[in-house]
Amino acid sequence: MNRIKHLIKKSFLPITSVALFSLTVFYWNNQNYGLALEYNGKEIATVSNEEIYLKASEMLNDQLAPEFKNKVENSSPNLKLIAVSKNKCCESPKDIKEKIIEKSSDEFSKGYGLYINKKLVAVENNKENIQEILDKKLSTEKAAHPDWQVAFEENVSIELGIFEPNQTKNTAEIEKIINSKVTSYHEYIVTEEDNLEDLTQKLSMSKEEILKASNSADENICVGDKIKIKEEKNLLNIKIFKTKTEEEETEYSTETTVDPTKEENYKEVTQAGKKGKNSVTYEIKLLNNGQEETKQTEVVVLETPTTEKITIGAKQPEDDGKLIWPVPFTKKITSPFGMRGKSMHNGIDISSHGIAGKDIIAAGSGTVELVSYSARGYGNHLIINHSNGKKTLYAHCQSISVKQGDKVKKGDVIAKVGTTGCSTGNHLHFEVRVNGSAQDPQKYV
Ligand SMILES: [Zn+2]
Repeated sequence: MNRIKHLIKKSFLPITSVALFSLTVFYWNNQNYGLALEYNGKEIATVSNEEIYLKASEMLNDQLAPEFKNKVENSSPNLKLIAVSKNKCCESPKDIKEKIIEKSSDEFSKGYGLYINKKLVAVENNKENIQEILDKKLSTEKAAHPDWQVAFEENVSIELGIFEPNQTKNTAEIEKIINSKVTSYHEYIVTEEDNLEDLTQKLSMSKEEILKASNSADENICVGDKIKIKEEKNLLNIKIFKTKTEEEETEYSTETTVDPTKEENYKEVTQAGKKGKNSVTYEIKLLNNGQEETKQTEVVVLETPTTEKITIGAKQPEDDGKLIWPVPFTKKITSPFGMRGKSMHNGIDISSHGIAGKDIIAAGSGTVELVSYSARGYGNHLIINHSNGKKTLYAHCQSISVKQGDKVKKGDVIAKVGTTGCSTGNHLHFEVRVNGSAQDPQKYV
């Protein structure tokens, strides 16, 4: 719309006159008056009102090759008022558009533009001629590869437009254009790994060519030097390809719901998973070196997979607070809790032949509060806090497999029986402490 306004301003009358002009034309319409449209000094049509000319301009503009839009915009049609008979006043916008093209044939001509990747490369008066040249190029390639499909790599289109007359080409010229090469340049930046010798291979250029193409002033190349590389490519390239479509299964996903009211080993499939099906299209391209390149071009979902839904339990087994015997290997007590001569024995000693290295398990669930070593006392020992005021201590261990802060469950292996610290043989010294004071473990396990 802006363009039309622009045209009015440029082509007709000063903008202030437009309203008056329209009213006047409307009045004159009922009389035997009309407007003669002059284009570059030549009278080309008679119109009943300026709307028809505007419509014609719009149509003209739509057909115009973008390169020439400015030129048309700058040309100035003139309108003058003349007395005409009613039947002469009926020219349509289309007729006027055609007349403008016809009368301005020294400036513009109607034709068919051949566009490659949206860029105008040639103009012909006859659309079929261009099509024939393109078809011929494709059919030659098709004949050489009968089992393959052929198509242009580039976006190729033929469009009606208005062009400068000198752009029109004949068949031979168009053939030459579409078979021509285009040169492009790109830059290679020299890296630390490069040397002149290797670059001759890498860039397929001679040393002299590389030096000439680089911005280096020296007889050598340096890191960061830019080498300008010329690349020649066909203006129009043909793709030789095949397509294949296959049905492929698609995996389903699993959605897990945790139910804390169900036991830990509980697992129920509430919805069975089902694989989906896709129709996948591949394009197989024949490369210049004879190799094939496969690319996925389209995926159509035929069946969506059904998500598997499972529910798992997460209920923690209830801890009854009772302690269990800490050495599954033996229940033999070699020294009980209580006074031992003059001193107090704060725990029980558990031992029997072959106990060295046997498992020590947590007497109850809890948190490892201490893992320590004392050469003159407990040796390798640990304390588990059962958080109900109860703690258990395991001493003289050969090794300890938990660390401070670990959460352990009743029955977990926590250490191996040994004879570290102040000990005369392999045994577990086991203590139970309730609210800080040592109790007889036999009352608890
Ligand atoms: Zn002891």
